[in-house]
Amino acid sequence: MSTEVRKPIISGNWKMNHNHFEAIQSIQKLAYLLTKDDFAAVDVTIHPPFTDLRSAQTLIDADELRFILGAQHCHESDSGAFTGEVSAQFLSKLNVNYVIVGHSERRQIFGETDEVVTAKIVAVQKHGMTPILCVGETLADREAGRTHEKVLGQVRAALTKRSVEQVRAMVIAYEPIWAIGTGKTATAQDAQLVISSIREEVAKVSSPLAATAVRLQYGGSVKASNIAEIMSQPDIDGVLVGGASLDSAEFARICQYRLRKD
Ligand code: PEP
Repeated sequence: MSTEVRKPIISGNWKMNHNHFEAIQSIQKLAYLLTKDDFAAVDVTIHPPFTDLRSAQTLIDADELRFILGAQHCHESDSGAFTGEVSAQFLSKLNVNYVIVGHSERRQIFGETDEVVTAKIVAVQKHGMTPILCVGETLADREAGRTHEKVLGQVRAALTKRSVEQVRAMVIAYEPIWAIGTGKTATAQDAQLVISSIREEVAKVSSPLAATAVRLQYGGSVKASNIAEIMSQPDIDGVLVGGASLDSAEFARICQYRLRKD
């Protein structure tokens, strides 16, 4: 089921790091380190905090950089009495193209349920952007042998009411929660096992066409030293990188994984 050519996608989730001055510096440094060939080989999305987006967009547009601008979160309504929230509609006006939805920190710290996650996916696609849907199990789920049940349940919930076209346009990131920011990484083979079962689930709940097209990422303590092995797995089309994306030199090395043997 993994025969279609899917362009690799490497995403940097800065979380609540880098003010807008630091964001500009980081993007400039990354732009200096990456080549035209790198951008031809991989899509690079960067997801700064909301307050950095306008500065990042202006820089990307002015210097014609090939980064794809992303956000980390959005509200599912277009506007209204939701103090402190930012809508998908507002993000689309900033040329944001990708929005992370259902990150485990949003699910765990801010109580986002599968229903809320589904509503955000609908809002993101309604405004012409691509959701990066995050799914993943806790350590307790994993130790109880419930990894597939948990992850595939999140996938099923998120894909309800999405057309084949909408599903194939999505990105799904498998992020085992015990591997996020902990320095622990799933083995490439373990990640492949879960990710291939996500692809099979997409075939069942949507269609085989969507399953061969949808891009699937791994996330959880990805670094320059482990990316090549992760990307060598047949169903893994990219990575979602947190901590290591804050260091432009390290993130550039991650984006250039295909050039190295280490
Ligand atoms: C993340 O924030 O999605 C993530 C995978 O973080 P880290 O790479 O730091 O584990």
